[in-house]
Amino acid sequence: MKILVLGSGGREHALVWKLSQCPGVEQVYCAPGNGGIAREVPCYPANPADSARVAQLASELNTDLIFVGPEAPLVAGLVDELTRQDYLVAGPTRQAARLEGSKIFAKHFMQRHKIPTADFVTCEDLAAARANIARWGGPVAIKADGLAAGKGVVVAADRAEAERALESILSGKLVGEAGKKIVLEQRLIGEEVSFLVLTDGARALPLLPTQDHKQVFDDDRGPNTGGMGAYSDDGMVSASLHRRIMEEIISPTIDGLRADGMVYRGILYCGLMITADGPKVIEYNVRFGDPETQALLVRLDTNLAELASEVARGQLPASPLAWKPGASVCVVACSAGYPGEYPAGRVIRGIEEAEASGAKIFHAGTAAKDGHLVTAGGRVLGITASGPDLASATRAAYEAASKIHFDGIHYRRDIARKGLLRTQPL
Ligand code: AMP
Repeated sequence: MKILVLGSGGREHALVWKLSQCPGVEQVYCAPGNGGIAREVPCYPANPADSARVAQLASELNTDLIFVGPEAPLVAGLVDELTRQDYLVAGPTRQAARLEGSKIFAKHFMQRHKIPTADFVTCEDLAAARANIARWGGPVAIKADGLAAGKGVVVAADRAEAERALESILSGKLVGEAGKKIVLEQRLIGEEVSFLVLTDGARALPLLPTQDHKQVFDDDRGPNTGGMGAYSDDGMVSASLHRRIMEEIISPTIDGLRADGMVYRGILYCGLMITADGPKVIEYNVRFGDPETQALLVRLDTNLAELASEVARGQLPASPLAWKPGASVCVVACSAGYPGEYPAGRVIRGIEEAEASGAKIFHAGTAAKDGHLVTAGGRVLGITASGPDLASATRAAYEAASKIHFDGIHYRRDIARKGLLRTQPL
């Protein structure tokens, strides 16, 4: 099988790495890829949202399957266009991808299908939004409706912060057009879990639960980012909570998609808050998470290439996925200043030393320049390790991180700490 992976981040590096190892896979290609991916497989310049270019590439390379990493091409309708041209592609249609493309659409979907989520109102102007700030008598989450690469959400601690956030989102300053409309919702209290499933639109197979770390600094301080680290741990979620998530969230979501006539063959990511009243959906994503994918794929023991092509054909296998027992941790190393402005072109050293101990370094924002590997993005590397338990996986990831250097490197020192402190499963 020949597979074309679309995208250029750490998630895509992990996908390329895993798919390349699958029995039956002859060659993996990536477009556009990045400095690290290009060290492993052939990469081609292409904008993944440009369906004509993607189709041309897939036909030149004679690929059997296209795997779409990022959300933007899915939301733009890439799957519809490629499917129309008879390419086999894993990912949801444009209509189904609105679960991620529009937070307002997602909230109405959940309301319609009675899927637990935070109470909300939608607003398009500042006056209406201001009038609703105190609606729930506590902190509110303010969310730009459209795609904003993880930067369109502010959880405001008080009225002053909420007013500032409303102004900056609705004026277009924070995330441009994506913030023309907003969702204002009650803040939920609890621990977050990223719960991903593979689905063919009729049934769903769960992946391991993971936990992401959105804020840029330790102890969940600072602005939200695309994700600063993730971990998986066999002890994270109890069997009873797992059952509740499948029954109260996943099943009604899949049934709802079908009832609404939406075709979904790919990965569905549910960002959950585990509240005192049970699991509630914070957001849907319509693709693999980044950096959850890095933490997941180092533990996956099922043939991902076969799985992806079965899902794309609408034939989800019956048996559950197989995983290495234990835990995994991905620590994201980013450029100084991220998620704001950051420099590029800083020479990266120490990758070989870091990988010598068994960790895998997934590249997110890297490029090759004058024979060196240099930084080329906000999130630069995903330093990933697995182990028999969370403590050993965490130690291995941070030991590898300590070997890597570039000017201004920043990474959180507390990835997986919540898991390490947990005395019983969620
Ligand atoms: P989202 O893009 O909707 O996942 O939001 C980004 C992050 O903001 C989430 O991962 C949460 O940490 C936080 N967040 C979003 N909505 C809420 C909410 N209703 N209550 C508490 N935190 C939230």
